[in-house]
Amino acid sequence: MVDEKAVTEPIPSVRAVGFWAPVQRWASLHEPVGWPDPRALVHPGWERDRRAAIVRYLRKGSVVARYAGFSYCRFPGCTTPETAMGDADLSDGFACWPEGLAHYIEQHDVRLPEELVQRMEARSFAAPEPQRESLVVEHRWWLDWAAANTPAPVPAPDALSFEEAARLVERLRTPLFAPCLRDGHGRWRVGLDEARVEYLPPCSAADLRRYLLSRRRVPSDAYLSAAQANRISKEVFGSSRRRPQVSRTICLMRAPPDRWFIRSGTIQEEQPRLDELGWRFTLECFRDAQPQASALDEALRRGVAGTGCQ
Ligand SMILES: [Zn+2]
Repeated sequence: MVDEKAVTEPIPSVRAVGFWAPVQRWASLHEPVGWPDPRALVHPGWERDRRAAIVRYLRKGSVVARYAGFSYCRFPGCTTPETAMGDADLSDGFACWPEGLAHYIEQHDVRLPEELVQRMEARSFAAPEPQRESLVVEHRWWLDWAAANTPAPVPAPDALSFEEAARLVERLRTPLFAPCLRDGHGRWRVGLDEARVEYLPPCSAADLRRYLLSRRRVPSDAYLSAAQANRISKEVFGSSRRRPQVSRTICLMRAPPDRWFIRSGTIQEEQPRLDELGWRFTLECFRDAQPQASALDEALRRGVAGTGCQ
């Protein structure tokens, strides 16, 4: 028998908090851009009296997700082993945080949003109730708070103006991809849809294009075929051996209908299929690719706090 309640009841959502910009690798597509650097949130006197209760509360959240690897402390020189930073996300039904968050509060004086502490206080800092298994984690609240409470990043030397960036966003719109760009706290706030927001440091046209193309979706009736894509590639690259080649099949594996494989030299990657505009932009990025990391890579690796870290 179908459990009607289980089918019709909406999946509860919780607010992400305490997720940090990666320092060892570029953010994957699954990690929102704009997660802060905890070093920009160090306040030694924060919640001195209730700090221990906050740390205890954070350690007692219910496990809602567990990962195949351990987290790591973002503070250089910290000797806490990765196994102590945890491999899970915890929740109290209001927020969702990584298991290692308590470490940052206890050992590095990192502060958290007041609203979260008020929630803990309303529960007398008691252990939260066990949570349901399915939760939707919303990142917007944390990203907006982090942008408002950490120093603005240093713009790239060749950064576009906000107006130029907004024009580029406009050009890459499709019926399935209509991001909304706003100027916020010295960053560009990109509303990807009603629920998803990300923050970019002001960056060059090439970096903004690369970012937008990695998230852009194209209606299927606008997809190029592999043959069309390869004709355009030849037009842009001539017969260079670096010419990116598109294929729908690789090593006997067929790509799903909305994806294809791109090969350029020794690089081989799967990505969403594109329309002509998206493909021409991608080819330009291949053509202009520099061997060193781009300015956006650098800015994201430093975290949105830029050089203002404490
Ligand atoms: Zn640490």
